[in-house]
Amino acid sequence: KNTIEKIAAGEVIESPLSIVKELVENSIDAKAKNIVVEIKNGGKSYIRVTDDGTGIEEYELELAFKRHATSKINTFDDLYNIFTLGFRGEALSSILACADLTLISCTKNSKVGKKVVYKNNKLIHKSSIATNIGTSIEVYNLFKNIPVRRKFLASDIRESNRISRLIHAFALGYDGISFKFIKDDRFIFHTLENQNLISKIYNLIDENLKDELIHLEIKNNLYEISGYTSSINYYRGNRSLQYIFINNRLVEYKKISNSIEDTYSGLIPNSRYPAFFIFINTNSNNVDVNIHPNKREIKLSYEDELLSLIKENIGKKVIENVS
Ligand code: ADP
Ligand code: MG
Repeated sequence: KNTIEKIAAGEVIESPLSIVKELVENSIDAKAKNIVVEIKNGGKSYIRVTDDGTGIEEYELELAFKRHATSKINTFDDLYNIFTLGFRGEALSSILACADLTLISCTKNSKVGKKVVYKNNKLIHKSSIATNIGTSIEVYNLFKNIPVRRKFLASDIRESNRISRLIHAFALGYDGISFKFIKDDRFIFHTLENQNLISKIYNLIDENLKDELIHLEIKNNLYEISGYTSSINYYRGNRSLQYIFINNRLVEYKKISNSIEDTYSGLIPNSRYPAFFIFINTNSNNVDVNIHPNKREIKLSYEDELLSLIKENIGKKVIENVS
C-alpha cells in the first residue's frame, strides 16, 4: 500500500478552531518567525493567518489544495518520524471543502507573489501580486454549504476563547516565533521572538502567577520534562490553565493531567485545579500521533514510566516550595 492510503483519513475541520490550528501549523512548518492570526466573530465569518515563512512555489500552489498532497512525507516510515506538524496533506483540501479561501504567497526565488481565490471548492481567480515573502491565507463563508455544522458551532465568545487559548499555547510552545492575535479588528496580544517562557506566561495568562510558579526540570532515560507548575496556593476552578506539550505539540492527555492533579490533592485537600505548563520531550518513536485525525490526542509508549516520574517529582517540588 502506498503512504497515502496508510494515513488515516478523517474529518479535520470541525470549527474555526481547527482551521486556525491547521493554518498556524503550516506556518510553523514553513519556518515562519512572525505569525499573525486575525479572526472575526469567533472565526465564523473571517479567519486570516499571515506568516513570513518560505512561501509556496508557484508550481506547487494548486497541488497544495489536492487531498493528500503534502510536501512533508515521502515514505511510510516518515510517519513515525515526524518533525513537522502537518503530515496528512489534508488540511487545505478539507478547508476548501467547507469554506471559501484566498491565498497569497511569495517565495524568495519568485520575483512576484501569487494570489489564488477558491469559491465553492473551485479555483476562480489567479493573479500576480506584489507581496512580502511568506504566505497569507484568508478563510470566509465557513460551512456555508453545511448549515447543520454552522448551527452547532458555539457562540462567538466561546469560539474565540478557544482560539485564543490555542494561540496562547502556540506562543508558549514555540520559542523563536512571534505571535500576534487580532480579534474583531482589535489588537489582543503580541509575543516576541526572543521572549522567555516565564514572561510569556505572566503576559498572556495571568500576572498573579508571578510569585506562584515552580520551575520543573525532570528527566529519566525516556523522558525529559521541563516547564512550570503552580504553587499550592494558586488554583483555578477549571482546567483552563493547564497546558501539556509533547514534543512541542499541545495535547490533551487526561492521564497526565489527572496524575498532576492527584499529586496536589494528595498534598492539600480541595486544591482543585493547579496551573501548569509542562513540556515533555521524548524520542518520536515513543509517540503515536496518528490515533486521532486532529492530532491532539496522542498515545505514548512507556506511559506508566512517565506518570510515575511526574507523580514523584512534581509532588516533591511542590512540597519543597512550601517549606
Ligand atoms: P500538510 O501540512 O499535512 O502537508 P496541508 O494541506 O496543511 O498539508 O498543506 C499542504 C501543503 O501546502 C503543505 O505540505 C505545504 O507544502 C503547503 N503549505 C500550506 N501552507 C503553507 C504555508 N503557510 N507556507 C508554506 N507552505 C504551505
Ligand atoms: Mg498542514
